[in-house]
Amino acid sequence: MFEGIVIKATSGYYTVQSESGQFVCSLRGRLRKDDTIVTVGDRVQGEEVRPGVGVIETVLPRKSELIRPRVANVDQAVIVCALTQPEPDLNLLDRLLVVVGREGVGAILCFNKADLVSEYMGRKIARPYRKAGYTALVTSAMTGKGVKRLRSFLKGKISVFAGPSGVGKSALANAIEPGLTLETGEISEKLGRGRHTTRHAQLLALQAGGFLVDTPGFSKLSLDGIEKEELRFYFPEFLRYEGLCRFLGCLHYREPDCAVRAALQSGEIARSRYDHYIQFLEEISAIGYEKKYDKGKGGRNVLE
Ligand code: GDP
Ligand code: ZN
Repeated sequence: MFEGIVIKATSGYYTVQSESGQFVCSLRGRLRKDDTIVTVGDRVQGEEVRPGVGVIETVLPRKSELIRPRVANVDQAVIVCALTQPEPDLNLLDRLLVVVGREGVGAILCFNKADLVSEYMGRKIARPYRKAGYTALVTSAMTGKGVKRLRSFLKGKISVFAGPSGVGKSALANAIEPGLTLETGEISEKLGRGRHTTRHAQLLALQAGGFLVDTPGFSKLSLDGIEKEELRFYFPEFLRYEGLCRFLGCLHYREPDCAVRAALQSGEIARSRYDHYIQFLEEISAIGYEKKYDKGKGGRNVLE
């Protein structure tokens, strides 16, 4: 009997990495009924039938589950944002943090291409995120700045890279361990369209232990499905004020005596973070409104 992590899945066969090596496995009959029962990232137990060949008997409960790419038990997203080229898109970054938080996945921020800007600039952009409680690294895949720290955060975990194209996700993966290359969105899309092959994500084993998902995640950035009452919980810097506002369940919008807005005034909460929160809140409310009234009148602000 062995226990390990599924690192690859191809047409009914699963490669399992265990402490005693790799096994190419098929599934025990009762697991075969549903092809979502076993996916890359699952912790499984199996029986060895021949050297290096086994049968998966049991799938252990999942901690998290991403849909695109389909990977179970991802511990954290490494969200990469370039400090320049392309210019940082903090709205997109905050949106990613919400989507990642909603999936129950941790986040590490990498402000990359530090070699192209001043040290002051890197610190300034990272500061609100550090204050909010995130691990925010200033990195350069080019010079290696911050790469050692990033590597230490990946140890023993399943991590997925996220962020727009061109920010340096592949370059960082390669700086972490030469030879680690990420599949880019463009390539898998082309394959999918041309040859009707669905490329499954794989886990790349890291030398220090832990795995990287070989495809960037969180390409879908819709806030659909997030309730306006829960959005504030994905802004960790708001949490310490929870319960201090006049109204129970305060959305920190325009309610009187709001502790979060007071913290904004005193500079404890960053303006850009709060502004994005309000923007997402209004967006969510508009989505909710459209659904409820079948896109009837639209545009009305249901928060008021
Ligand atoms: P991805 O689309 O996020 O995977 O981005 P890539 O890793 O392909 O990087 C996009 C471009 O930025 C490439 O030309 C890289 O050489 C460059 N690049 C990546 N990281 C850095 C960095 O830290 N500093 C500088 N100067 N260029 C970088
Ligand atoms: Zn409030």
